[in-house]
Amino acid sequence: MHYEDWYRRSIETPEEFWGEQAKAIHWHRPPDRILDDSNPPFRRWFVGGQTNLCFNAVDRHLEARGDQLALVGWSSETGRIRELTYRQLHREVNVFAAVLQSLGASRGDRVVIYMPHTLDAAIAMLACARIGAIHSVVFGGFAAHNLALRIDDARPVVLVTADAGIRGGKVIPFLPLVDEALSRCKHPPARVLVVDRGLAGPLALRGDRNVDYASARQGQEDADVPVAWLESNEPSYILYTSGTTGKPKGVQRDVGGYAVALALSMWSVYDIRPGQVMFSTSDIGWVVGHSYNVYGPLIAGATSILYEGLPTSPDPGIWWRIVERYGVRTMFSSPTAVRVLKKHDPAFITDRDLSGFEYLFLAGEPLDEPTARWISDVLGKPVIDNYWQTETGWPVLTLLPGLDMNPVRLGSPGMPNLGYHLRVIDEATGEDAPAGDKGVLVIQPPLPPGCMTTIWGDDQRFVDSYFSHFRELLYSSLDWAIRDADGYTFILGRTDDVINVAGHRLGTREIEESVSRHPDVAEAAVIGVHDAVKGQVPIVFATLRRAHTDAEAGETAAQMRKVVVDQLGGVARPARVYVVNALPKTRSGKLLRRSLQALAEDRDPGDLSTLDDPGALEEIRRALQRGP
Ligand code: ATP
Ligand code: MG
Repeated sequence: MHYEDWYRRSIETPEEFWGEQAKAIHWHRPPDRILDDSNPPFRRWFVGGQTNLCFNAVDRHLEARGDQLALVGWSSETGRIRELTYRQLHREVNVFAAVLQSLGASRGDRVVIYMPHTLDAAIAMLACARIGAIHSVVFGGFAAHNLALRIDDARPVVLVTADAGIRGGKVIPFLPLVDEALSRCKHPPARVLVVDRGLAGPLALRGDRNVDYASARQGQEDADVPVAWLESNEPSYILYTSGTTGKPKGVQRDVGGYAVALALSMWSVYDIRPGQVMFSTSDIGWVVGHSYNVYGPLIAGATSILYEGLPTSPDPGIWWRIVERYGVRTMFSSPTAVRVLKKHDPAFITDRDLSGFEYLFLAGEPLDEPTARWISDVLGKPVIDNYWQTETGWPVLTLLPGLDMNPVRLGSPGMPNLGYHLRVIDEATGEDAPAGDKGVLVIQPPLPPGCMTTIWGDDQRFVDSYFSHFRELLYSSLDWAIRDADGYTFILGRTDDVINVAGHRLGTREIEESVSRHPDVAEAAVIGVHDAVKGQVPIVFATLRRAHTDAEAGETAAQMRKVVVDQLGGVARPARVYVVNALPKTRSGKLLRRSLQALAEDRDPGDLSTLDDPGALEEIRRALQRGP
C-alpha cells in the first residue's frame, strides 16, 4: 500500500487505523476504547489501556536483544565513549529508579532533569518513566532564571543534575546555577541528586538537600524496581516551549498515545527496524531529544547514539566517523549544524565508508535550498526536511521513506504525516486557502496520538493558546504555510515572533523582559536579524529612563547584555544593542518588530499605515547607520 492509502485511512477511519498501530507496543492491559473525543479539544487515546514507556523501551527487548547495544554516549568534550546493551541499560535504569524512590519520588511526582547531554540523562528519564514519575527535562544550556521558572511551574520533588557540562572545552559547573535557581524558587525540590562526572573538582554538596548519586546507588546495585503500569492518558512528561509569551508553556504528553506514535514513525518515517542504528544530534533538552534520541529508537529495539560536543571538534569529520563506526542508517540533525559543516572540506564526509547510511533528516528551522543541495550532493542520499513542534512530539510534515517515498521537493518539508488532518486556513475568511495561497497551518482535531494533551496545570491556556484562533475548533500551529497543487506544504514563518539562534529558540518577549529588568531601561524591542552561521542573532533597541551621555549609554548597553546572558544564557546574548529615544509603535501601542527587523536587515519596512510616530522609525534608521 502507498502513502496516499495509508494517509487516507488514518484520517477517514482513525479508530481502526490507530487500533491497529497500537498492537506495535506492549499493553499490560489492552485499551477498552481507542478514542474518547467527547470533550474537544481534549481527547483521550487508548482509554483504559495500561502500559509503561520504560517497559516498552527497555524490558521488552531483553529476551530478543539483551546483548545488543541500546545506547551509545559519545563525548568529544571528555573523550569518553560509553556503550550500554539493553541488558546493561536495564540494570542502570533499575538502580536509578531505586535511588529516585529512596529520595521520595513516586507515581505522579515531578522530577526535573537539568543535565548535560549524557547517557545518565537518558537513564534518569527512563527511571522516571519506570516508576511513573513525570520528568521535565530542562536544557542544560539554560541559565538559573530559566531553570527557576520551570521548577516553580512543575514543582518537582527531586532535581537531577550533574557536576558540570562542557562546551568547546570549557567546563560549566552546574551546582552554582542550581543553587542560584533554587534560591529564587517558591517551590524548590526537597532533594537534588548530583551525578558527578569528575569535571568540576570535588563535589561541594549542601547539607541534606544534595545527594551524590555514586554514594546513593551503593546498596541498590541489584535493585529490581517494578514497572508502574499507567493508564494510557496519565502524564509521562512535561517539556517547556521557549516561551514567546513570557511564561513558558509546559507541554504535557501522555503514555500510550506517545508510545504508539513513536513506534509507527520509527519505521514509516525514519525507516528504522529492530537492530538498526539511529543517530540524532539533538540535545536531550529538546523534543527531538526526547522522541528520537531516547524513546523512539529504544521502543523500536534500535541503537541510539547520543553525542556531546560540537560538530567540528576534534574535526568536522567526527559525526561521519561515528556513522561509519556504528553503521548508522538514519541521522537526524538541524540545518544550522549542516551550515557549519558546509564551511569545511566535504572530504571530511566523503572519505568515510558510509555504505550503511541511508537518510539525513533535518528539522527545527527552515531548510534553505543551498544548504539542502550541498549536503545531499555530498552524501548522495536523500536529505529530508522535517517540520514539527514541541507540542506535536513527532513529525507533522515529512516524507515517509519507510512506507514509500515521494520525491524531495526543495524548500518543502513534504506532506502530512499519518494521522495529521492538516489544513491551511486563510486568516481573513477562516476558510481553506486555495492551493498556492498563504494561510495558517492548522490541525483539524482530534490531534493524533503523541501530540500534547494539555498545558501542565492550565487547561484553559491550552484552549486559548492553540484553539481560539478560528470559528471552527482547530489547532493552530501559529505558522504560515502554503500548500501546492501536489500536496507539498511550504512553511513561511511564524505568526508571532521568535528568534532562532543556531537552532535554539528564544522568544523576543523573553529577551525584552530580561533587558527591561535593568533599572535604567524604559523599554526594549528585540528582533532577530539574519546571521550567516547561526541563522539569526538577537539585537536590542532600547530607550532609557533618563538623559544620558553617549558614554553612559554605552555602559548601560554593556550591562543589558550581561543581564540577558545571566538570566537566559549565552545563546541569548544580544549581538548589538542600540540606545534610542523612541521605539516605533502602532497606534494601539504594539511594537512594530517587523519593521525594525526589515530596517536592520536593510529591507523595505513595509506597510507603515499603523505607525504612530514616523520620527521613531527615522531615528532607528539613523541609529543603524551610526552603529551601536
Ligand atoms: P514557542 O512555542 O515557545 O514559541 P518554538 O515554537 O520556537 O517555541 P519548537 O516547538 O521547538 O519551539 O519549534 C517548532 C517551530 O519551529 C515550528 O512551529 C516552526 O515555526 C519551526 N520549525 C520546525 N521545523 C521546521 C521546518 N522544517 N521548517 C520551517 N520551520 C520549522
Ligand atoms: Mg511554538
